[in-house]
Amino acid sequence: MKRFFLIALVLSVVLLGCQKVENTKGSSFSAANKMSVVTTIGMIGDVATNIGGDRIEVYSMMGAGVDPHLYKAKAQDLTRLNKADLILYNGIHLESKMGDVLEKLSKTQNIKAIENGIPEETLITVDQAHDPHIWFDVSNWMLASNVILEALINTDPAGEVIYRENHASYRKKLEDLDKYTKDKAMTIPKENRILITAHDAFNYFGRAYGFEVQGLQGISTVDEAGTSDVRDLADFITKNQIRSLFVESSVSPKSIKALQAAVQSRGWDVEIGGELFSDAMGNTGTREGTYIGMVTHNIDTIVAGLSLEGK
Ligand SMILES: [Zn+2]
Repeated sequence: MKRFFLIALVLSVVLLGCQKVENTKGSSFSAANKMSVVTTIGMIGDVATNIGGDRIEVYSMMGAGVDPHLYKAKAQDLTRLNKADLILYNGIHLESKMGDVLEKLSKTQNIKAIENGIPEETLITVDQAHDPHIWFDVSNWMLASNVILEALINTDPAGEVIYRENHASYRKKLEDLDKYTKDKAMTIPKENRILITAHDAFNYFGRAYGFEVQGLQGISTVDEAGTSDVRDLADFITKNQIRSLFVESSVSPKSIKALQAAVQSRGWDVEIGGELFSDAMGNTGTREGTYIGMVTHNIDTIVAGLSLEGK
């Protein structure tokens, strides 16, 4: 009897031990024991928050006004990355200064790139490189939401039903956003749909919503605009009598202001049509601090700046 009791005791300790190991691996997260998700850009974090609800806690390293092309991981980021249950990043060389860090993390951590869910034929190629700014075509961000859903389920299978429900309702909002953006773009004549910004972040936006797009810098802010770029673009703007240029929240307005001055010296009064959120969302807690809010703000600002009214 005593022996049986001992065996039972040993068995229950072993079983309890196993259970504990499983828990620390994160098989069961809840509102009280949240999954820690770390993302690079805020746009990924926002989608994760919408799908994960209160089972997850999201930290996005790159907040309002931060340029992801130039961002280097800080010491506190590394601490969070090493403790995270799930890491999500864009890829396609957007986070170009974090390549080594992400590469290292991929060997030890649960990490997923959005680029894996975007078919290669969907990607735009500029100067022999894929353009990383995929989020400006809302249909791409629907694909991104699928990647995020899958990653959350893999990390926390017990939350699958909730994640799928949240995802379905968020996808519906993205479909509405895509339609809103298309309809709004159509309110200005095709010949006025020319978008000039500080850097080439809007190629996917242009393809999806019918705009010709010209950025003063290339698809990465790492390369600076040269004086011949300013001259050529100033000629183009003057010739086409483009009404407005747009500054970007994550890029210094200096280059766009120089371009405006160059156009004005050619006798055409081009305006600054407002600030667009390109590679970072607005402040947390504001409408523009969400992906849907940022896209809505951008299309509203662009249409207001390029429409014939008020000129
Ligand atoms: Zn960019």
